[in-house]
Amino acid sequence: MYVETVLNVPVPGTFTYYSDSQDVTCGMRVEVPFGRRKMTAFVIAVSDTLSEAQAAICPADKIKPIYRIIDKEPVFTEELVELSSWVSRYYLCTQGEALSSMIPSGRRGTDAGQSFFEDDETSYTKHTLSDEQEMAINEILSDNQLSETSGSSTGNNKFHYLYGQTGSGKTEVFLGAAERVLAQGKGVIYLVPEIGLTQQVIDAVKGRFGPTAAVLHSGLTGSQRLTEWKRIMNREARVVIGARSAVFAPVPDLGLIIIDEEHDSSYKSGNTPRYHARQVAMHRVSRLSIPLIMGSATPSVEAWHLMDTGAIKKHTLTKRLAGGAMPEISVLDLSHEEMSGCISERLTDEIRSTLAEKRQVILFLNRRGFTHFFRCRTCGYELKCKNCSVALTYHKNEGRLRCHYCGYSVSVPSECPECGSFDVGYAGFGTEFIEDEVRAKFPLAKVDRIDTDVLEKKGELQKKIAAFKKGETDILLGTQMVAKGLNFPNLKLVGVILADTGLHLPDFRASERTFSLLVQVAGRAGRFFPDGKVIVQSYCPERPAISLACRNDMNAFYAQELQERQIIGFPPFARLLRLVFRSADKQKAEDTSSSAADILEKLERQMASQRKDGSQIEILGPAECPLSMIAANYRQQLLLRSSSVSPMQQLVSRFITEYKTPSGVYCEIDVDPITIL
Ligand code: ADP
Ligand code: ZN
Ligand code: ZN
Repeated sequence: MYVETVLNVPVPGTFTYYSDSQDVTCGMRVEVPFGRRKMTAFVIAVSDTLSEAQAAICPADKIKPIYRIIDKEPVFTEELVELSSWVSRYYLCTQGEALSSMIPSGRRGTDAGQSFFEDDETSYTKHTLSDEQEMAINEILSDNQLSETSGSSTGNNKFHYLYGQTGSGKTEVFLGAAERVLAQGKGVIYLVPEIGLTQQVIDAVKGRFGPTAAVLHSGLTGSQRLTEWKRIMNREARVVIGARSAVFAPVPDLGLIIIDEEHDSSYKSGNTPRYHARQVAMHRVSRLSIPLIMGSATPSVEAWHLMDTGAIKKHTLTKRLAGGAMPEISVLDLSHEEMSGCISERLTDEIRSTLAEKRQVILFLNRRGFTHFFRCRTCGYELKCKNCSVALTYHKNEGRLRCHYCGYSVSVPSECPECGSFDVGYAGFGTEFIEDEVRAKFPLAKVDRIDTDVLEKKGELQKKIAAFKKGETDILLGTQMVAKGLNFPNLKLVGVILADTGLHLPDFRASERTFSLLVQVAGRAGRFFPDGKVIVQSYCPERPAISLACRNDMNAFYAQELQERQIIGFPPFARLLRLVFRSADKQKAEDTSSSAADILEKLERQMASQRKDGSQIEILGPAECPLSMIAANYRQQLLLRSSSVSPMQQLVSRFITEYKTPSGVYCEIDVDPITIL
C-alpha cells in the first residue's frame, strides 16, 4: 500500500510512504522517517499503485516504509482534509501545519473516559423562553430550512448575529437552537472564548445535554482531548463546546456552529496557522450549507459592518431577563478629581457605601497599559502619526516618538503642539500597587485579585470566582478576565480604575477594544437588581470610545468608528496581511525585512499588471514592531494593504516560494491580523 501523507513541516507538498499492512486508511496517523527524524504523518490518501505525479517525485523503489501505524481508527475525516487544504491556502501555511493544528496531539485515549464530567454538579435550570428569544430561534432555523428546500443557498441567510446587551439571555437562545438542531439528528459546535472564563456556559451545556456533550479545551491533556475527539467522531457526543480550535471538531452531520462573544480576541490564533475561528466557521458552514450564529453585546466592527450591509442577519434581544436593568454609569474626569493614589475620593466614597450595604464591588484594571505615550497635561492632547492616526510611542533611548505602522517618527516636543503648554509628559498607569492602595483604604474588606498570573495555577481562577459569588470576598480586583460572561447576584458597584489605558496603544483597534471592554465590564453590574452602578475614571472622558460606552450608545460608536476606519483605510474597508521578521540578531531582522520589502515591491509591479480588477497592494514599512522585542527576538514588520485579500495571498504565496528567509530569521505570516503590536 502507498500512503500519501502530510507532515507538520514548512515544506510544501505531500509525502508518500509504503506500508506492508492493509490496515492503514485515510484519517490515520503513522510514524515515518523524515530526513534523519522520526515524525508523525497524517494519511490523506491510500492506494495500491503510485500515481504518475507521485512517481515523478520519488520512484517506487526509493519509497520508504512507514515505521508504524499510530491509530486503530481514523482521527480525522475527509471534511477536515478539505478544511486543512483551505486553511493552508487562506493562511499561507502547509497543509501538514494546518492539519496538525486541528488534531489533538494525544497518542492514545484515556481509559478514564469522561472522568472530567463526573465530579461536576451542574446547577443549570432551563428557562421558558421569552418572546424575543423564541422569535430569534425561529427566524434563524427557519431561514436555514428555506434555503435547504429551495436547494439554493442565497448566501444571505447562513450567517446570523444575536445582538443584545449583556444579560439579555443570549445563552438560552444558543442552547434552544442547539437543542432543535440535535433533535433533527445533526451535531452542533458551540465556541466560547478561552475556557475557564466561561465555566457558566459550559455548565449550562453539560446540564442541558448531559453525556451527549463533549468539552475541548486547553486544560485537557493530549490524550484527554483525543478521548473527547473520538467520542465526537463516533457520534457518542453530538454537541461540542470548546475554545478556538473546537471549530475543527470532527462532528459527523454537523448542523450548526455557534460563536459566543464573537468579538473576543482569543478566537484568533497566535501561532501558525494564524487562523480566526470566525473565518474558519464561515467557510465551514458555507461548504455544508448550515447556519452560523454569532452573538455578543459588543460585536466586532467587522461583524457590525457586515450586519449593516446585510451579509450577516441581525437578531436583536432588548431586555434583561433576570430582573436587572442596565446600570447607571458615571464618568469621573480625573483631571478635576481629588486623587490620592489611583482611586479618587468620589470612587472611594462609593466603595465605602456599597460595602456598608453588604454588597460587592469589582474594580477593573486594564492590563494593556504597557506603553508610554506623549500627553499634554493641560489640554489632554496626544501626538498621533500623520499618516496612520494612531498614537505615537515614546522610545526613550532615541528620544523620539515613533509610528509602528509606517515608521514615521518625530523628536519629542518640549511643548504641546496644540496649546503651547510646557506641562507635557508621558502617561501610562502602573497596576501593581493598586491592590496595596485598596487594602490600605479598606483594611476591613476582604480583597482578592484576578489577573493572568492566577491562570497559571490550575483551578485557581474558578476558586476565586466561586468565592466572590458566595460572598466570601468583598472587593474583587481584576483585569480583562472579570469582563467576561460572569454573573454575580450580589454585585452592586463596578469601578473602572482607568478607562484610557488601552486607548493609546498604537493599534487601529484601540478604540474598538476600549469601547467593548467598558461596555462588557459595565454590564457585570445590575444583572439581577435594577440598582447597579458603574463609575468610570478617565483622563479623556470626551473620547468617543469612553463617552459613548458610558451612554451605552452603541449605534453612535459603531457609526463613528466605521467612518474613521474608512478615512484611514483600515478594516473592514481594507484588508491587511502582516509579515513579521524576527531574529535574535537585530541587524539580520532589519536587513531581511528591507530586502523582503524590495522583493515584494518588485513582484507586486509584475503581478498588479496582470490583475483584471486593477486592484493594487500597498506595502507599508518596514518598521519595528511596537513590541520590538519578544523573548530576545527583534521584530520588524511589513504591512500589506489592499481592497481584497486574495491578491495579497497570491503575492505572499509567490514571495515565500521564491524567497528563502536567511537562516536565523523567522517569518511570521498573519492574514487578517487583529492586532499590529
Ligand atoms: P447574555 O449571554 O446575553 O449576557 P445570559 O444568557 O447570561 O445573558 O442571561 C442573563 C440571565 O438571564 C441569566 O441569569 C439567565 O439565567 C437569565 N435568563 C435567560 N433567559 C431567561 C428567561 N427566558 N427567563 C428568565 N431568565 C432568563
Ligand atoms: Zn496642550
Ligand atoms: Zn504611521
